[in-house]
Amino acid sequence: MNGDPITSVVARNQCTGCGACAGAFPEFIKMVEDATHGRRPLVTRSEAGCQASRDATAVCAGQGSNWTQLRLGDEIDEAWGPVRAAWEGWAEDPEIRYRGSSGGAVTGLGLFALETGFAGGVVHVAARQDDLRLNETVISHDRAGLMRGAGSRYAQASPCDALARIKAGDEKVVFVGKPCDVASVSKAMRHDPELAEKISLTIAIFCAGAPNLVATDALLKSLGVPKGATIRDLRYRGNGWPGLMQATWVGSDGQETKSNGIPYGAGWGGILQSHRRWRCRVCADHSGAFADISVGDPWHAPPSGNEDAGRSLVVARTARGQAFVEAARRSQSIYVETRPRDVIARAQPNLSATNGAVWGRRMAMRMFGLGAPQDRGQKLLAQWWALPMKQKALSVLGTWKRILRDRLWQPVRISGRTQ
Ligand SMILES: Cc1cc2nc3c(=O)[nH]c(=O)nc-3n(C[C@H](O)[C@H](O)[C@H](O)COP(=O)(O)OP(=O)(O)OC[C@H]3O[C@@H](n4cnc5c(N)ncnc54)[C@H](O)[C@@H]3O)c2cc1C
Ligand code: SF4
Ligand code: SF4
Repeated sequence: MNGDPITSVVARNQCTGCGACAGAFPEFIKMVEDATHGRRPLVTRSEAGCQASRDATAVCAGQGSNWTQLRLGDEIDEAWGPVRAAWEGWAEDPEIRYRGSSGGAVTGLGLFALETGFAGGVVHVAARQDDLRLNETVISHDRAGLMRGAGSRYAQASPCDALARIKAGDEKVVFVGKPCDVASVSKAMRHDPELAEKISLTIAIFCAGAPNLVATDALLKSLGVPKGATIRDLRYRGNGWPGLMQATWVGSDGQETKSNGIPYGAGWGGILQSHRRWRCRVCADHSGAFADISVGDPWHAPPSGNEDAGRSLVVARTARGQAFVEAARRSQSIYVETRPRDVIARAQPNLSATNGAVWGRRMAMRMFGLGAPQDRGQKLLAQWWALPMKQKALSVLGTWKRILRDRLWQPVRISGRTQ
C-alpha cells in the first residue's frame, strides 16, 4: 500500500465510494462493486497507478473535508452547513412529483436547468439497465433521462466517477449526489478551475447512509423475488411519498410478477439500514454542506400513508443556489413555501442524533489506534457534548463493541467486478 494512498483510504474504512478518484484518473483507478464493502476504487498496480493515487487524494473527501471554507454564520450553520434559506414544496410537474423520492424537487430543478439553458446536462445516477440492483452515472439532457433517476436508490452509487467526462465535455452541467459525493466534487472544483467552470450548480440529497448489495439482495428476498429471476423494476422510494419498496420480475416460467410493497419504514429500518458501511456511521455531513442546494424529506410534517402527495425540504447553501431555487419558483418549475432556517433539526431528528454521536465514535476509533476521517472546522465536539450522558457513553461503548464484532482493525480488501 506504500505510495498508494487511495487503497489506504479504502483499507482504513474511510472511503465513501463517491468515485472521484476513479473519475479524475480513469486510466489507473476503476470503481469495483464489492457486495459487502460497497463500490470502492481499485488502483492499477504500477508506478503510474501509484502516482495517480497520490494525485487523487486532492479530490477525495472520504479522508476528510474542510468546513473552514464554508460561510458559517451561526449555530444552525455550524450544525448543518450554511443555511441561507429553507423551503418546503414539490415539483409542479405532477408526474415528477409522483415519481420523485420526496416531492421530486431534485428532478424538477434539474429539468428547469435544462429547459432554461442554465446547463446542457445533469449528472446523476440511475439504475443500470443490465442489472437493476446496481447504479450507473448518467448525464441526462432531457426529461426522459432525468426521470430514470427520479426516486432514491438506497444502494451504492458513485456519481463522481463522471469527473473526467464532465471536464472533457463541451457543456456545463448540474451535479446531483449524496453529501459525500458533493464534498468530493467541491474539493475537485477547488483543485481544478477548468472542471469548476463546467459545473454550474451542485445539488445534494440528504443521506443517512448507503446500504450495500447484500442489503439489496435481502430486500429482493423479502419481496419474494426468486433467485435468478430477471428483475424488470426495483423501487426503493417514489410513486407517492415516501413510496413503497417494490419489485417486478420475470420467473423461469416466463411469467411477470409484481411484488407487494414494503412500507419505507419497514424496508429501511428492518432490512437496509443495518447494511450501511462503517464510513457512513462516522459521516459528519448528512445534509450536503458543500452543495449549492440540498434536498431531503420534511419528516416534521410526515405523510399520513405510504403513497401521499410528495413534499421536499429544499435548502439553499449559497447565493447561487438561492437564486436558482427562486428562479425555478418564478418559472413555476417547483412550488415552494418558505420555512424558518432551523427547520432541518425538526425535520431530521435522526440525523441530529447521528451528527452528535460522530465525535464519540471517531474518538473511540482513535483510542483503538484506528484512523478516522478528519473534517476541519466542524464543531463535532460541541454537538457530542450536547447529547444526553447515556447517548454520549453509547457513542463510545457502541463503537468499541462494533470494532470488536466487525474486526474493524482488519484492512478492507476489495473484490468484485470493475464497472
Ligand atoms: C442512500 C440514501 C439515504 C437517504 N437518507 C435520507 C435521510 O436520512 N433523510 C432524508 O431526508 N432524505 C434521505 N435521502 C434522500 C431522499 O430519499 C430524497 O432523495 C430527497 O429528499 C430528494 O427527493 P426528491 O424527490 O427531491 O428527489 P428526486 O426528484 O426523486 O431525485 C433524486 C435524485 O437523487 C439521485 N440519487 C438517488 N439515489 C442516489 C444515490 N444512491 N447516490 C447518489 N444520488 C442518488 C437521483 O439520481 C436523482 O437525481 C436518502 C437518499 C438515499 C439515496
Ligand atoms: S472517498 Fe471517493 S475519492 Fe476517496 S477513495 Fe473513496 S471513492 Fe476515491
Ligand atoms: S452517510 Fe455520509 S458517507 Fe455515507 S453515503 Fe451518506 S453522505 Fe456518504
